[in-house]
Amino acid sequence: MFRNEPLLELRRESVRREALDALATLDAKLPLEVPMLIGEAVVTGRQMASVDPSMPTRIVAHAHEATEQHVKDAIASAETGHRAWSRKPAAERAAALSRAAGILRNRRLELAALAVREAGKPWAEADADVCEAIDFLEYYAQGALALGAGRELLQLPGERNAMRYVARGVTGVIAPWNFPLAIAAGMVSAALATGNAVVLKPAEQTPACAKAVVDALHAGGVPLDALHLLPGGDEAGKALVADPRIHTIAFTGSCAVGLQILERAAKVVPGQRHLKRVIAEMGGKNAVIVDSDADLDDVVPALLKSAFAFAGQKCSAASRALVHQAIADELAERMAGAITTLRVGPAADFGTDVPPVIDVAAQQKIQRYIDSATPLAQATTRDDGFYVAPTIFAGLPSDSRVIQEEIFGPVLSLETVTSIEHACDLVDASNFALTGGLFSRSPRTIEYVSERTPVGNLYVNREITGAMVARQPFGGGKLSGTGPKAGGPDYLLQFVEARAVTENT
Ligand code: GLU
Repeated sequence: MFRNEPLLELRRESVRREALDALATLDAKLPLEVPMLIGEAVVTGRQMASVDPSMPTRIVAHAHEATEQHVKDAIASAETGHRAWSRKPAAERAAALSRAAGILRNRRLELAALAVREAGKPWAEADADVCEAIDFLEYYAQGALALGAGRELLQLPGERNAMRYVARGVTGVIAPWNFPLAIAAGMVSAALATGNAVVLKPAEQTPACAKAVVDALHAGGVPLDALHLLPGGDEAGKALVADPRIHTIAFTGSCAVGLQILERAAKVVPGQRHLKRVIAEMGGKNAVIVDSDADLDDVVPALLKSAFAFAGQKCSAASRALVHQAIADELAERMAGAITTLRVGPAADFGTDVPPVIDVAAQQKIQRYIDSATPLAQATTRDDGFYVAPTIFAGLPSDSRVIQEEIFGPVLSLETVTSIEHACDLVDASNFALTGGLFSRSPRTIEYVSERTPVGNLYVNREITGAMVARQPFGGGKLSGTGPKAGGPDYLLQFVEARAVTENT
């Protein structure tokens, strides 16, 4: 029976000491080297550096950047790997994933330290990332076993019907930097569990985290030619998507890139005899509705966490609060006070509430949004890393870019609504439908919003981030993605084809 991996008790002094020891051990090894893994380690003359967002002079890794030719080589190797891997019994593949989960479990502090350094994730978030990676491996291993047994069909006398699921073909995975362990592990393990060979292109900012996941899977028993690692940028990503030998593309990232992938993948090129399937988890512009009867003692900390944890760099993060007019002024005043208590600081400090953002491009982009209007309140920031001041806006016009566009940073807008219906109208008007929140004590309101809201994940009377594997299948509709629901019971179906066999008996 599946259970979520328990989080570390980071409040305990002994656990903190172990975490800092792991960080010191990691620091002594920096910078790491991340080669390409194409059946063997391959190095090139082209290198990309990943840096610590909390101290950008610290280089975390030098990754060898894949060219179009490396992508072709990796896919050729994956085609060979796919033949053997897809024929293995589901139980054998599941066992390899489960062993990889065990390896991550044994190395969890080391991996959390890596996410602290390479992604600028505060300890609690970094630890949750490791746990979620473990959860994905175990959950999809178990799910693939169940899928391997096929599904029940109606049987009639003289007719035997069977349905089974087979691997689709080589899968290209394009992973994000914000959950550099978990989401890479999730997309890769879903493809592997169902018998597909994989070529993984991690985010440019977090190649070392991706390599740690790939190493664990290889050590767990996934053959080298069934899983390839290609650190790289645009060139590698585009080549991977366009290649006719790719059958499935699993992507998590921005809406703009997701739309490009969907467009490119739709083109059937000469030599291609199948349709590519794109599994895309894209952006969000997530709103929390606060009803007039909400308990503000619950609302304030939940909004702070949803909007500002990990500097708002989650697709699930709250960026709008739609507040009933009866309590709008009071909530604005309390939020304005509360935001000043947030501690902005390095990811490795246990007291940090809001870490830096991932890189200078993100920092500048978010800053432009902040500079475009007058804030209601801001926390104090610093300038020795890629920091951005956590910011709250209030009363912006509804066509403001701050309200309409995904910022992916520590920015929250408070908007006043006249009724719950009005709040739902505003949610409906958004391009995105990923997560949403509601604070209300009325069962009728909860029922109404649950029925009406288009979001993939609605959270009632709590924060709106932190979906747990097997408990909150994650993903949304509209321009937020193709809605496959990562960590849910249907996710693996994206990676397989169904075959029905009917036998006249
Ligand atoms: N699954 C994460 C959460 O629920 C968000 C994933 C993402 O940002 O892509 O917070």
